[in-house]
Amino acid sequence: MKKLQKTFALTDKGARGMLIASVASFCVNIMYMLAMMAFFYFAQDILDDGHLGHLSVYLLASAVIVLLMYLALDWQYRSTYNATYMEARDLRLSIADTLKGLPLGYFAKHDLSDLAQTLMQDVLDMEHAFSHAIPQAIGAGVFLCMMMALILASNVWIGLAMLVPIALSLGIIFFSKRYQKACVRRFYDQSRDNIEIIQDAIEMQQEIHSYNLVEEKRSQVHRAIRTAEKMHMSAELGQGIPVTTALSLVKLAITTTILAISWLLLRGELSPLLGVGYLIAVSRMTDSVEAVGLNIAELFYIDVRVDRIKELKNTSIQKGKAVRLNTYDIEVEGLHFSYGENCVLHDVNFTAKQGEVTALVGPSGSGKTTMIRLLSRLYDYDQGSITIGGQLLKDISPDSLYGQISMVFQDVTLFNGTVMENIRIGRKDASDEEVREAARKAHCEEFILNLPEGYQSLIGENGSKLSGGERQRLSIARAFLKNAPILLLDEISASLDVENEKAIQESLNELVKNKTVVIISHRMKSIENVHKIVVFEEGRINAVGTHSELMASSDLYRRLVHKSALTAGYVY
Ligand code: ADP
Repeated sequence: MKKLQKTFALTDKGARGMLIASVASFCVNIMYMLAMMAFFYFAQDILDDGHLGHLSVYLLASAVIVLLMYLALDWQYRSTYNATYMEARDLRLSIADTLKGLPLGYFAKHDLSDLAQTLMQDVLDMEHAFSHAIPQAIGAGVFLCMMMALILASNVWIGLAMLVPIALSLGIIFFSKRYQKACVRRFYDQSRDNIEIIQDAIEMQQEIHSYNLVEEKRSQVHRAIRTAEKMHMSAELGQGIPVTTALSLVKLAITTTILAISWLLLRGELSPLLGVGYLIAVSRMTDSVEAVGLNIAELFYIDVRVDRIKELKNTSIQKGKAVRLNTYDIEVEGLHFSYGENCVLHDVNFTAKQGEVTALVGPSGSGKTTMIRLLSRLYDYDQGSITIGGQLLKDISPDSLYGQISMVFQDVTLFNGTVMENIRIGRKDASDEEVREAARKAHCEEFILNLPEGYQSLIGENGSKLSGGERQRLSIARAFLKNAPILLLDEISASLDVENEKAIQESLNELVKNKTVVIISHRMKSIENVHKIVVFEEGRINAVGTHSELMASSDLYRRLVHKSALTAGYVY
């Protein structure tokens, strides 16, 4: 069971179900054999007696065999198909559980359409293997070994005549295993790339048309499809040639067995009836080899999918306990962080106190957004420490941390639902009136009431029916509603117009009271009055202080203020 579970990335229940299904499949093989053996013994009995003396016994035995066969097939059906659908469901749920525990940064590093394909298509492909290939390959494989041993024990020449072609045939399938898997993997990877290319082409319609990239994109898509087509052909051939060769070769076992039987008959070492019995046996055996061969080829086919699921399930999930925090000072000490090989934060130290606003400033690419991502556990840091209210951030489970943090980022994510539902994400049990109150504070109400159905208007996929500023304001309304003790704001004024920004700034001043607030802003004017400013330079802290202290002590800060003032005065 453990081996099955490990090999095919099954759940506990799935591995048990697969084992039962394999036993059922083995029993079905035995039942088919039993029917043929019964026929053989009836024939011998009739020949020995010279008349149909035991007809009623034959009929009774046949009825019992038919009943047993029905029971075995019914058992096989239930244990494979029912168990399979349950396993596909459980596998999807267990993948979803893993995804839930992954740092959100994982999703930034991985292509989302690829993850969706793994969850839906890969599991669907595996579903077929669970219901057909795996139990049948195991059942037929065990049956084959058992029959082979019995035949070898009863007549070594006939046993060898069957064994050699069967062994050669299975050998071809196993020796071509690596080649088959490699062909399938190339096609699989290309198919995944194609999904991304096509998704890009659909999502980037505006850019494609405005930059006249239609022809270029079209030929890129066509090229990708043609490459996938070629790889599909080579995957089919890569599997088809060895499997067909092996399956043709196994038919040779019938010829070699007939030759062996004839030879033994001529030498008088075998009765004709026993010869017929061996012929029946070899035809069953070749059927079993075909079942094993085809099903094993399917297992090679799903191998890359199993690997993908294993990789996903083995990704380390974020740990931590549910922690109740009483104070909310954030302390960052000796912090280091890399995206893969690229180290972007080096020995960062600062404190963001409760009841104060701490601004992170610095040139583009200096590590500010990364710092906010680490504070919110979207990524986990490599070295050093971050504590909130004295508790190590890594010890706080993401769920309990997100309960205490509101985040407003430049890239707002909205769901394809109503305005009311989208704001209520901030606090699920909020009343309609509380949602409206939050919307008023974030200066949303005016545009919401202008929508056709007010708060009940559907806003489209990721708020596609709203402007950038409107979407941003909805996400600020969420933060108002959530009213969490820690507030992380990343460039929230980027898509607000001047009028709204001023109004929102006033509401924000209300919202930030008594909270630990960390804010990133390029507009240096807007952070002049904050309690503390942390200046980042190439992933390191350049200086920490108030505006007036930094104006006196930091060259970089003075340059940032100067540039920001120039930008503010810029006219087209
Ligand atoms: P800032 O917010 O100050 O503009 P960032 O924290 O966004 O800076 O980026 C800091 C550095 O990290 C940059 O060199 C950027 O290219 C790199 N970086 C940011 N996000 C990622 C990511 N998801 N993967 C790899 N590198 C990244």
